[in-house]
Amino acid sequence: MGVGGLDTALRAEHRAPGFDPQRDPTVAILAEYDALPGIGHGCGHNIIAAAGVGAFLAASRSAGAACGRIVLLGTPAEEGHTGKEYLIRAGAFEGIDAAMMVHPFSFDLAEHAWVGRRTLTATFRGVAAHASSEPFMGRNALDAATLAYQGFGLLRQQMPPSDRLHAVITEGGQRPSVIPDTATMTIYVRSLMARTLSDLSGRIDAVLDGAALMAGVEVSKEWDGHPASLPVRNNRALAQRWAATQERRGRRALPGGVVPDTLAASTDFGNVSHLVPGIHPMVKIAPEGVALHTRAFAEYARSEEAVDAAVDSAIGLAQVALDALGEPALLEAAREEFEAAGGVLRAQ
Ligand SMILES: [Zn+2]
Ligand SMILES: [Zn+2]
Repeated sequence: MGVGGLDTALRAEHRAPGFDPQRDPTVAILAEYDALPGIGHGCGHNIIAAAGVGAFLAASRSAGAACGRIVLLGTPAEEGHTGKEYLIRAGAFEGIDAAMMVHPFSFDLAEHAWVGRRTLTATFRGVAAHASSEPFMGRNALDAATLAYQGFGLLRQQMPPSDRLHAVITEGGQRPSVIPDTATMTIYVRSLMARTLSDLSGRIDAVLDGAALMAGVEVSKEWDGHPASLPVRNNRALAQRWAATQERRGRRALPGGVVPDTLAASTDFGNVSHLVPGIHPMVKIAPEGVALHTRAFAEYARSEEAVDAAVDSAIGLAQVALDALGEPALLEAAREEFEAAGGVLRAQ
C-alpha cells in the first residue's frame, strides 16, 4: 500500500524463480477502483478492480516456469485527478514493458478512442464600481467571462468533430449593483491526439486573451491543476490477443472505428499508453445507449452481466499477460509498434 506516495495505491508482484530484471520481461495489470460522488460506480471501476485482481491471481498461478514478472498495480483517482500520472512521476512504472487493463462499457471493444484532456482555471480581474452611479469607472470581469464563453461557442465550428471543449463560470459577481471585479471559469479541453490537444489549448489561450482585451481587464490562467491526461494509444499487437481471448469466451470485441470516436471520454491510462505499450479494451455490461457516469450504468455495474464480464476480462487479461511473457516476439512487435507511433511521450 502507499505506492508512489498515494495512500490508496497498491502493488503486488509475482516473479518467476530466478527472475532477472535486466533480462526478463515485466507486464503490469492495472486495477482502478474509484467511484463518482453521488453516483457510485457509474464508471464501473469495481469491475476493473475485480478483473485486474482476478487476472493477476490467474496469471500468477498459471505462469509456471515462464520467466518474467507480473505486477498488479492498484491505481487510484482516475476520475478527474490523473492518478496514474502521479504514479508515473513517482517511478511506479519503471521496469514495466507493457501495461493492460479493461473498462466496462455498453459494447465489447478491442480498441476505443479516448481523448486527451487538459484542465484550466481562468480568472479575470477588472475594477469594481457602482453599476448605477458610476458604471463608466468599472471594468467588468464578468463581461470578459461572458465574451470568452461566447468565443468558445463560436470556436466549436472550427474544431475537429472529436474535440471537446466545456466551460462553466464558477464566479461572476455577488450583486447586480456592483460591477464585478472578479470572474472565474473552469474549462476542460479534450482532443484525440497530443498535437491537436496542444493546438486547441493555444486557441483557448487566444480566446481568453481576446476576451480580456475587449473588456479591458486582466486574465490569469492556471493550466493543469492536475496533470493532463493524454489520449490512449492502443497497441494493436496486444489488442489482437485480447480479441482472441474474448472470442473464446463468446464475446466479439469490435475493432477501432466501429463505435464512433465522438463517444470518447478521457482516462489517465492515456499517459501510461504513451510510456509503455498498452491496451485498454472495453467489456460490455450494459445495453447500447446506457452511458458511463449515469445512475443506470451504476446499476449495471452490480448486475449478473457485470460479474460475467469481470470473469471474462480476468481470463482475457491473464492470457494476454502470459502471452506477452512467454512470447518474446509478441512483446517485440508491441514495442516496435509503440516506437513507430512516436515512442515515449510525457504529459506536461
Ligand atoms: Zn469515469
Ligand atoms: Zn472509468
